[in-house]
Amino acid sequence: MRLMGKNPVPVLLGLAFFIVMCVAVAINSFFGSFSGSREELLREDSRKKTLNTGKLQCPLDGALVDRLPQDRPVAVVIDNLPRARPQSGLTKADLVYETLAEGGVTRLLAVYYHGEASSVGPIRSARPYFIELAGGVNAILVHSGGSPEALELLKNSNFPHLDEFRHPRYFWRISQRRPPHNLYSSISNLHKLARDYGLNNEVKVPSFNFISDEVKEYIGEKKSLQSDEVKIHFPRGYEVTYSYDPEEQTYCRFVDEKPHLDAATNSQLSARNIIVQFVKTNVVDGQGRLEMALTDHGRALVFSGKKVIEAVWQKPATDRPTTFKTMDGETVELLPGQSWIEIIPQNTKVSF
Ligand SMILES: [Zn+2]
Repeated sequence: MRLMGKNPVPVLLGLAFFIVMCVAVAINSFFGSFSGSREELLREDSRKKTLNTGKLQCPLDGALVDRLPQDRPVAVVIDNLPRARPQSGLTKADLVYETLAEGGVTRLLAVYYHGEASSVGPIRSARPYFIELAGGVNAILVHSGGSPEALELLKNSNFPHLDEFRHPRYFWRISQRRPPHNLYSSISNLHKLARDYGLNNEVKVPSFNFISDEVKEYIGEKKSLQSDEVKIHFPRGYEVTYSYDPEEQTYCRFVDEKPHLDAATNSQLSARNIIVQFVKTNVVDGQGRLEMALTDHGRALVFSGKKVIEAVWQKPATDRPTTFKTMDGETVELLPGQSWIEIIPQNTKVSF
């Protein structure tokens, strides 16, 4: 009774308030840990399933493989002019980057690690930013010549690259198309070339963060922003549209309103994940050549399983990978499969 002092009413009220707060905290922590543990259980379950198969996960596309490739990844510069389409071998890439070249056209960089393709091309010339993108995934750059800046950079560094100008034997030209839109090679040729020239040293390939479809679906329930269609407003003739196919849970790709096909398989290209990376871009010469600040940080949008995720990207040094984090500071989770990374100037319109 002494605890209550002379006037017990305020003390009793305080005690009641304290008890209510304790109950509230207990309920909150019970449900909080309950929902957290369901997510953890799903993750653990999917990790166990992967372990039980005895397989490993490819770091670039999350595919389950018996063993990781012996050969270093190759990043091939691919033409995207209308007369270069349809290209060959893009469906087999682990990862594809798309960005601008000068004059309002786009160019691709297709990265092959566990992916194999018997025909890849048309192969085109390098730009400085393709060197940086290849470096971010520890790949050997494959190209046919380059802009003066790119060739200068390659000459003055020991960056691993394979130039068709120096090794024409490992490439071929097809007669149905006119140069320079007709240069091809195969992934096995490129691996052989890399081995023959001592470039195939063992490297660690940085990994994206993949989760299973079921974990993604569960997390998805908590995040509401969704979109069936993503449109990237590249210059006229190069606009890209991705349309979500709920059955395949993938985004079908269109360029200039037409399905973008792979000549090798005649199937439409698609992306399991689309990452849009906004970068500072400047025109650096009279030809309209571009400079892109890839060692930097900025805004990103990630589209995966119909969800739209606001993100930030960061690349701390030229030879370090680019990371993508959510606004909560967590590494963005992707679904296993081919991702397309769209590197675009900051003022490019993206609708979804
Ligand atoms: Zn792979």
